[in-house]
Amino acid sequence: MGWSVYLFLFWGRNTVIVLKELKITKKPDVIEVSADVDGADPFEFQLPEKYDAFLDDESVDAFLLLYTWHAMELGVPLEVAAPVSAKFAGNLDRIQKVFLSLCPALRKVKITCVNARSVWRRQGSFASTGFSGGVDSWFTTLKAIQNGRPFDCFLFSSTGQHGVHQVEEVFQSRYQTALYALSSVSGNLMKLESNIDRVLRHGFMQTHTIRNLACALLLQGKIRSYLYSSAYDFIPDKITPSSDMATVEYFLLPLIVTERFEAKTAGLGASRTEKLVYLSGRQEFNGKLYVCTEKRIPATNCGTCFKCRRTLLLLAYLGLDSVIEQSFDYPAFKKRKWAMELGALVAAENSVPEYEVADIIYRHWGSRTRIVKPLISALAAIKPHTPTSLQWRIKNHYPYLW
Ligand SMILES: [Zn+2]
Repeated sequence: MGWSVYLFLFWGRNTVIVLKELKITKKPDVIEVSADVDGADPFEFQLPEKYDAFLDDESVDAFLLLYTWHAMELGVPLEVAAPVSAKFAGNLDRIQKVFLSLCPALRKVKITCVNARSVWRRQGSFASTGFSGGVDSWFTTLKAIQNGRPFDCFLFSSTGQHGVHQVEEVFQSRYQTALYALSSVSGNLMKLESNIDRVLRHGFMQTHTIRNLACALLLQGKIRSYLYSSAYDFIPDKITPSSDMATVEYFLLPLIVTERFEAKTAGLGASRTEKLVYLSGRQEFNGKLYVCTEKRIPATNCGTCFKCRRTLLLLAYLGLDSVIEQSFDYPAFKKRKWAMELGALVAAENSVPEYEVADIIYRHWGSRTRIVKPLISALAAIKPHTPTSLQWRIKNHYPYLW
């Protein structure tokens, strides 16, 4: 093939994305939602038929959020012929700026919305949030109850957070675990599956906020406000480069707003320790926590991954052993506690999320810290130079030590 043919194939692909109209297919138990689109792969969602009334069947706002990022990663203009919310369309320039600040590899693109409207047939009134059974979602849920504005419903979505193998099985199993945890609180836990992870080029950590917000926007037929449990507290004088979308939520969420929907961050300003102390003092908290990063079936806490380690040590130092007994293998934790402490302290020398654990351990040890600290620093200095084969063996057999 000559150069001209290659050039034609290159330019012939993805010269523009056209978002034409919403496609809703109702099956006996499930509703499939996608958008008729040219120039890019279609995003698809599935939700149980019983949540029909939640579906925003008037606009393509949910798709517009995802295609804005996708058009920027492909570097092609986006034309939207289907109806979109005028308020949201008016923020797309600023949304692109926030995306670019997080990921400079994206390109600013021209977005044209020819059918932006501000009057809609339906307007919901529900308050909602995501619920996984983790510390952040528990905190957001119980704070809302305490503030007298409990959530009407909760979302449990599949947007890339359940790994790449046996995704459906892991999703279903984690849903059951979250449902079991939520048993002491009223409100449905709604399942929502999507193919977002197969369409977006950038990974989950860099795009998790828009993936989950797209699910909430899709349900703006009933959901009026959505609280997003943010794990990142924005402190203006401590900005560091990061590819985690959580770092821009402070700016991004107020822009994801329509005439019928608003998104807000929740849980900012409270440390993990403060959140656990708060949970333990609330009667609606039943001690059922699920924090694990491992994709186990059934979905139980492995007790050894970095998230389990962090949570276990904080619970132990806060004297919340009853929660450990409810949600983890308590005897196994007791046996490896000292090794987990060593692993966490060494990791804390170079990892911001581990600082909190190290802080609570050092404070507990008091003056004895002076004896241990030089050893920890020495181990942290050696750690990056550990031979790869030994690193692999430690991570494989004793992940809590790494
Ligand atoms: Zn785990």
